[in-house]
Amino acid sequence: MSKFWSDFVVGLEPYVPGEQPANANLTKLNTNENPYPPSPAVMQAMESAVNDDLRLYPPSNADQLKQTLADYFQLTPEQVFVGNGSDEVLAHVFNGLFRQAQPILYPDISYSFYPVYCGLYGIEFSKVPLADDYSLDLEGYRRANGGIIFPNPNAPTGRLLGLDAIKALLQDNRDSVVVVDEAYIDFAEAGSSAVSLIDQYYNLLVVQTMSKSRSLAGMRIGYAMGSKVLIEGLERIKNSFNSYPLGHVQLAAAIASFNDPDYFAAMREKVISSREWIVEQLKVLGFDVLPSSANFVLARHSDQNGLALTQSLRDKNIIIRHFNKPRLSEFLRITVGTPEQNQQLIDALGEIIG
Ligand SMILES: *Cc1c(COP(=O)(O)O)cnc(C)c1O
Repeated sequence: MSKFWSDFVVGLEPYVPGEQPANANLTKLNTNENPYPPSPAVMQAMESAVNDDLRLYPPSNADQLKQTLADYFQLTPEQVFVGNGSDEVLAHVFNGLFRQAQPILYPDISYSFYPVYCGLYGIEFSKVPLADDYSLDLEGYRRANGGIIFPNPNAPTGRLLGLDAIKALLQDNRDSVVVVDEAYIDFAEAGSSAVSLIDQYYNLLVVQTMSKSRSLAGMRIGYAMGSKVLIEGLERIKNSFNSYPLGHVQLAAAIASFNDPDYFAAMREKVISSREWIVEQLKVLGFDVLPSSANFVLARHSDQNGLALTQSLRDKNIIIRHFNKPRLSEFLRITVGTPEQNQQLIDALGEIIG
């Protein structure tokens, strides 16, 4: 603590990201990054963007990227917002759309950045407990609120809420903004995204990221899609904060990624089939695995302690994520890696469990 900190700063509880270890020998299955590199076309676009134009500010409205996203998702550019990672987009959502008279609602087991933004922007919230099977309990959201947000698939459970359920939620909740954080939606079955509902529900905002399914966590590119009024609200916040959240190289990478659908589809398939393999293998080892539609799985063993297993894996140079929280402490959250990494994980767990 410093005497220069305001009481507000003293009171903040910042987010703690998963470890990014300096030791490259570790098998890193802890932060849901993609195990495959960005597409060669993306690498080439970024290289070409490193030129004398870097002395110029980037286009502040990111028109070309917005048009690319609009074409891809069958929307208009006015229905698209872009930002420096979806974390920044989410920060603007909380700041611009969730500062309401009523508390906002989100699941008790969910992305741990949500309470951090509530703290930063002074937003009241109420956590809705997940059902016994760790799925979203829709009944809990049938009450007055200042907004609703949940990841779909949920993190860190991996469970997917179907489009019909999302529709029902929107039907019951016309007077506040419903945000679906689709960081992992590309790993779910095709047609699961709520983007298709945007033209029907002007209070729906869908947030996505290029960090997971598009192998670009290091470039920091996120976006939101929704009705024109919601996007305009976000633009007002963004233009009161930082007019240039995406630089030339980021914009080039993002556009090139959406223009290379074959590579995207191929990597997506690889991750999904590896996920199914890991689930099978974990079950053979006696784990109970939640059904996952993401690029990670949440699994617990009937007679092994979650923290102890995490530490034993670490001793074998494999890092995964453990959450020391109610209803999660028995679990391991394991990011899907390459087939080699996944084999290492399963072999290590086999040795530990014996
Ligand atoms: C990873 C993640 C994000 C953040 O993604 P960035 O675009 O890298 O900031 C947002 N929401 C959820 C649920 C995530 O898991």
